[in-house]
Amino acid sequence: MNSRQMNRYRTLLVNRMNESLNLGNEEGLKKIYDATEHLPDVSDFASLETLREVTYIITGKRKQSVREIQDALTRIEKGSFGRCEACGHQISEKRLLVYPATNLCIRCKKRREKEHNTAA
Ligand SMILES: [Zn+2]
Repeated sequence: MNSRQMNRYRTLLVNRMNESLNLGNEEGLKKIYDATEHLPDVSDFASLETLREVTYIITGKRKQSVREIQDALTRIEKGSFGRCEACGHQISEKRLLVYPATNLCIRCKKRREKEHNTAA
């Protein structure tokens, strides 16, 4: 991968990072409430529970997403970005453009998903 491609992916990852971080702000929460119709009402204990749940979900997902992006940025710095961490093959550009934070090629990803489904 040349430096021009690396820069492209770095920009892509930084944009994704910003999107992920915005997910946890008040506007993001409001969107969720609008979609689920669980509008927060502080006098309602059930709503408070929902608020806690939604916040927890968003925070968890956001955390995971941000961590994956940070790992991918680290791989760019180390020069190992774009290589599958399971089999060592180059991850296709098509896949990287859709999932720039991925560390697995499509074959290994599918195999892991299959293993996971079997285990569950
Ligand atoms: Zn692989």
